[in-house]
Amino acid sequence: MKIELGSNRNPPAQSVDLSARTIAYFSMEIALDPSLPTYSGGLGMLAGDTLRSAADTGAPMVAVSLVHRCGYFRQKLDASGQQTETAVPWTPETLPSAGEVVSLTMQNRTIKVCAWRFDVVGVAGHVIPVFLLDTDIEGNDPYDRRLTDTLYGGDTYYRLCQETVLGLAGVQLLHQLGCLPAVYHMNEGHASLLTLSLLEDRLSPGQTLADATEEDRLAVAQQCVFTTHTPVPAGHDQFGLDQMYAVLGQDRAKALERFGGLHNNLLNMTYVALRFSRWVNGVAMQHGKVSQQMFPDYHVESVTNGVHAATWIAEPLQRLFDDEMPRWRHDNQYFRSVYGIKPSRIANAHRVAKHKLIETIAERTGEALNESVLTLGFARRVATYKRASLLLEDPKRLAKIAKKLGGLQIVFAGKAHPADTAGKGLIKEVFELAGKIGSTGSLRIVYLENYDWELGGILTQGVDVWVNTPRRPYEASGTSGMKAALNGVPSLSILDGWWIEGCAEDVTGWAIDDGDTDAAEAASLYDKLEGRIAPMFARPNAWARMQQHCIAMNGSFFNTDRMLGQYFANAYFPQAPATEATPADEAIAEAAILA
Ligand SMILES: *Cc1c(COP(=O)(O)O)cnc(C)c1O
Repeated sequence: MKIELGSNRNPPAQSVDLSARTIAYFSMEIALDPSLPTYSGGLGMLAGDTLRSAADTGAPMVAVSLVHRCGYFRQKLDASGQQTETAVPWTPETLPSAGEVVSLTMQNRTIKVCAWRFDVVGVAGHVIPVFLLDTDIEGNDPYDRRLTDTLYGGDTYYRLCQETVLGLAGVQLLHQLGCLPAVYHMNEGHASLLTLSLLEDRLSPGQTLADATEEDRLAVAQQCVFTTHTPVPAGHDQFGLDQMYAVLGQDRAKALERFGGLHNNLLNMTYVALRFSRWVNGVAMQHGKVSQQMFPDYHVESVTNGVHAATWIAEPLQRLFDDEMPRWRHDNQYFRSVYGIKPSRIANAHRVAKHKLIETIAERTGEALNESVLTLGFARRVATYKRASLLLEDPKRLAKIAKKLGGLQIVFAGKAHPADTAGKGLIKEVFELAGKIGSTGSLRIVYLENYDWELGGILTQGVDVWVNTPRRPYEASGTSGMKAALNGVPSLSILDGWWIEGCAEDVTGWAIDDGDTDAAEAASLYDKLEGRIAPMFARPNAWARMQQHCIAMNGSFFNTDRMLGQYFANAYFPQAPATEATPADEAIAEAAILA
């Protein structure tokens, strides 16, 4: 099955003066439309939400990504929870072409790269053009034609080729289109080879990268902003030097070496970005600090993530807000004014969203859940540190709690990367535990297939409590709990990532206490469930008041409108330049004075 964009989602390219666009946002994945498989998870969602807020707020941005013709996969789970994957091909040809073809040398041969343009259109019609790079062009080497097919596919060599296309062809394309941004924002290290292209731009005719100086590096860094997204080491791309030479060639490889892009004798995309950026940030306050410890030679700031409110709020709540404070679509600060809306109206709107969730579960699984029973949601990319099975750590206790409450429902969802055998094992483990526990009657557990944009919305809008159980401090931010908050759904979570900033105990949700073992943390989770959550859930007025707090306190802050504003004020066009030079820069300045 090929995915076609609906005609309503495919407006004709509006004329945009690209020469007036001052910020270029580069991301390996961007969630552009629920029907497009151009993202895998949180990173792509964040990129899409960022651009949607950029469109709403009239930001002078453009964006670049790859077209991912085969898409990120659709997940199937058999009765034992064994995951299989199917490709989700789509046809970018229904989009307008960017109108330019870039010619690039990599792997010691020429590759041509074209692009499709997807317009993200804001609430008042402002357009953020997104250029999706595509190497499937006749005349390209057959291997090269497949380079923009599969997001996070192939081996490391394939990935390095993809990142070369993203960074080098991406910058060239913008330039050929007459777009000369003042700021390049690298959303994660996948995009960091764009700095090489900017370095090449600075060379005079006849010069090679061997002629690039420290001054050139600093000049490139003046144009670049880098956001790092995870403290998990596997999240930082590294490539062997043989691959670096083979893909990029002598000239570029030597430049990367000379300017500090290697770490432990590997090409390290995070270090490339660190070396060539004037601003570096983590995605929540704590993550910035953890990243600062990981990279002590650089100055690392923090900008806490957000989500695009209009993308994630359930329709009935949107209608309520449209009635009561219609400017929320232009200005998310109005969410604070939710305190002027009767809590019972929020609760009623949420009930409609919960009904839709229960209906969706019935359609997809045949399981009929009960709309008046406390329902927990847990959905995320399956990774060991996220500990999907912590909720089921003590099945006996959980069953006892469920019985005491007169019912408890838990809804799981999540994909494991196709090559992640451990992750796939975790899904099976949850299935197995659920199978064992499921027979007790008062406790119902379902695992929904194919966690994606649509399901992410239905879940965060419809459950009563959003659960998150990462192992500290590996959750850089997390954004699904923010979607829940905007829908009046409190979180029960480990104090990690954004929740450190969002948790007001008994007001916006509950913290799972830190413990030395999984069992200790699970015990705290059960204590909160039994001792605090269930009693409040039994008092509808108190619960409705809590839903109101979630939106007013957390919805008004953990949104991408606020986040983008912070990027503008601190990273893109800071009024006060960063006060602390990086130690590396100081050393360089010293060397320059001595020279
Ligand atoms: C929001 C979202 C994510 C990211 O959520 P986390 O809390 O960071 O796990 C991942 N996948 C989908 C489909 C989402 O909607």
